[in-house]
Amino acid sequence: MSLVKPLRLLLLGAPGSGKGTQTSRLLKKIPQLHSISSGDLLRQEVKNKSEIGSIASSYISQGKLLPDDLMAKLVVTNLKQSGWLSPDATWLLDGFPRTSIQAEILNNDLQNYKAELNLVVELDVPESVILERIENRFVHVPSGRVYNLQYNPPKVPGKDDVTGESLTKRSDDTAEVFGKRLQQYKSTLAPLKEYYANKGILETVSGETSDIIFPKLYDLVKRKFGAH
Ligand code: AMP
Repeated sequence: MSLVKPLRLLLLGAPGSGKGTQTSRLLKKIPQLHSISSGDLLRQEVKNKSEIGSIASSYISQGKLLPDDLMAKLVVTNLKQSGWLSPDATWLLDGFPRTSIQAEILNNDLQNYKAELNLVVELDVPESVILERIENRFVHVPSGRVYNLQYNPPKVPGKDDVTGESLTKRSDDTAEVFGKRLQQYKSTLAPLKEYYANKGILETVSGETSDIIFPKLYDLVKRKFGAH
């Protein structure tokens, strides 16, 4: 699909709701789309043993959110370096903003470039489905590609389909840390949704699987931004 106007999309959803999977599927369908996942950015920093990575790893391992200003700086810097702070740019954010304060900081920055978000979609997946999914989740850290042993297994067990590199289990996908992340999500969601609802750009798509959610998400994008 080609877009008739620039799309700047935020995917909201509990950890394990399939934001990464929906992102990969949208990227395949919409050639001009780019994406940034705040969690992937942080995991890269941890892997590279950078200064921000060393700060991030203790927050991540406890399932706690990093400070709002630090996160905003990391993501906005990345948008800038990628050349996406322009009114013509089309991109998708996954995992940031996660609090209404982050949303305000981002909005102020984007306003300066006339590149504000213009669609926010909440992925609404039942909690029972999410908990089951997490146990089977594996990731390829360098690309952020996500696999599920049940629904979306890699072609070769334990290996990324594209690079053949090893897949890993996220250290924060344990029952204990995951429970905290889910609580964290629930406690910050309402004000964040209110922030975007007030801007008139919030939509919700519901479903139990990524196969059910994706056509709904894609239709929504097509209806609002697509040509064909
Ligand atoms: P995710 O991959 O989106 O589940 O993020 C993994 C972890 O990275 C979270 O549990 C947080 O510790 C941290 N993180 C990611 N995005 C943010 C954000 N927008 N604000 C604060 N912390 C974040």
